[in-house]
Amino acid sequence: MKADLFDQRRLLELQAVDTTLAQLAQRRKNLDADPAFATASQRLRALGDKAANLTGDIADLDRDIDRVEREVDLVKNRASTDRDRMGAGASAKELEGLQSELESLARRQSTLEDDELELMERREALDAELAETRRQLDEAKTVLADAEAERGRRLGEIETETADATSTREALAINIPDRLVELYERIHAKQPIAAAELVGRRCGSCRIEKSPADMIPIKSAPIDEVLRCEECGCVLIRTELPKSGPAPLASEDELKKYE
Ligand SMILES: [Zn+2]
Repeated sequence: MKADLFDQRRLLELQAVDTTLAQLAQRRKNLDADPAFATASQRLRALGDKAANLTGDIADLDRDIDRVEREVDLVKNRASTDRDRMGAGASAKELEGLQSELESLARRQSTLEDDELELMERREALDAELAETRRQLDEAKTVLADAEAERGRRLGEIETETADATSTREALAINIPDRLVELYERIHAKQPIAAAELVGRRCGSCRIEKSPADMIPIKSAPIDEVLRCEECGCVLIRTELPKSGPAPLASEDELKKYE
């Protein structure tokens, strides 16, 4: 394929924009995979679950405390009834039975009150834990909101830069002959670097240095010949030759620059 060297060199600008676009796409991927966001979400979920569990445990404890309190009331009522019956002139045998029951009720009441105290202490500890969890939850919400804001800011930057690079690319491509752009696109579909500079004897894409024998066809190629790197297949662009000129062949002086 033949193309003006000046047009060929424009492929390098196209390549530079494509490299920028690829870097922007990578930045977008990195942002999606940003652990700061996932970590903050996870922590928020874990704390939310913990607060819900604690609230459930506290409700269970409250029910237990109520149950114990009702039982204490029953025991107290029963003792009060027993005392009333003792005062109302019971027989000696009845008095003995009532006395024994009152002693048993007193022991029961004491046990229940100990249980209640223990339950209330546990509830107090859970209350404190819930308050601390809620404080951490508020903190985690702030961290997540900050992470979201930062993500949005970085995403906005990437989108703006991508839009800029895309319009630059369109403007560049319009000024390059279609056949050359098509060739570039075909190569670019297969590899990230489709056009690279020939620097000395080295391909700017694969970085492999050409042997002096490989340089012979490159050196003798007409200036408007579109060269390809035999190693990586990219369009190899001679930037050390004059930018334009009618000469179909590079002059001896120009070719010496590759030696
Ligand atoms: Zn190469």
